Amino acid sequence: MKKIIDLRSDTVTHPTPEMREAMARAEVGDDVYGEDPTINRLEALGAEMVSKEAALFVPTGTMGNQVSIMAWTNRGDEIIVESNAHIFMYEAGGPAVLSGVQVRTVPGTRGAMDPEDVKAAIRPNDLHCPRTSLICLENTHNRSGGCVVPLENMKAIYGPAKEQGLAVHLDGARVFNAAAALGVDVRQITQYTDSVQFCLSKGLCAPVGSLVAGPEDFIDKARKARKILGGGMRQAGVLAAAGIVALEKMTKRLAEDHDKAQKLAKGLAEIPGLDIDMATVQSNMVMVETRGTGMDASEFSALMKRYGVLFNSSTQYKVRMVTHNDVDFDDMDEAIRRVKEALSA
Ligand SMILES: *Cc1c(COP(=O)(O)O)cnc(C)c1O
Repeated sequence: MKKIIDLRSDTVTHPTPEMREAMARAEVGDDVYGEDPTINRLEALGAEMVSKEAALFVPTGTMGNQVSIMAWTNRGDEIIVESNAHIFMYEAGGPAVLSGVQVRTVPGTRGAMDPEDVKAAIRPNDLHCPRTSLICLENTHNRSGGCVVPLENMKAIYGPAKEQGLAVHLDGARVFNAAAALGVDVRQITQYTDSVQFCLSKGLCAPVGSLVAGPEDFIDKARKARKILGGGMRQAGVLAAAGIVALEKMTKRLAEDHDKAQKLAKGLAEIPGLDIDMATVQSNMVMVETRGTGMDASEFSALMKRYGVLFNSSTQYKVRMVTHNDVDFDDMDEAIRRVKEALSA
């Protein structure tokens, strides 16, 4: 039987054997009482790694972003996000439902908003206008195919935001990928944001969980918001134990996933009918345009599913392939071979 090569997302990764062991051994307590030593250790470690005062363990990245918005805003506020941001596209209207805020979108180039556009979108202090209270950034940027938002861009948005008294939140679901791609310590990125959410369960391979990090008083509010959402967990140290391995070990190997993406992209780009903008292959994702094959994205992904290569459609003529710990360099060769075979059949 053919091995399935699953490139749908880095969320399909399984916990490593070391994580399983750490989970089995984890010391636990009731975290709603603040008594789970493993969660406390994870939160302290996470806060330290991104250079923030405190951190909060949440079940998902979505909850991490939503409790952050709840903590930074009041009902009737407006928040500024990039027009293809996960917060706007894929969180089921959370900002409206949970925080009662309205979302103002600003178009981006490969995920990066023009700082001048952001400035122009900030509302004046006027009776007629909602109050702008929060700007949300995303790095790496998911819908642009894992592009890295440059540090100078983040800085140019963060500075003026602080002058105007606005908070900046980073949806850093894959911020460690961004750090690996830039070749910098993640603190270089998180210095330009007040709060950050990062996923442990994507390229870092933990089965569950994200951390939100930021100032102490913000984390207190986020903790209360998490409780409102029913996210106050009990002996979740068994999950946090995997998260500690994710942060200590798995952050160090993400560059390898980026090399796999380069290998995959170069191989696929040579196949007639497929188009890849190599400049956008910056982390662990490859966006492949299918128009030249005469198939749209869903037809192409349905075809390749029959050859045991899985990936998702992103737009009508673009599929997204994501590399991760559970596929290796040989799998990249094999995926390229199977695509060739499928397209010449
Ligand atoms: C995956 C992702 C999220 C949400 O994480 P979940 O754990 O799936 O809820 C948020 N933002 C970005 C950019 C993501 O890629």
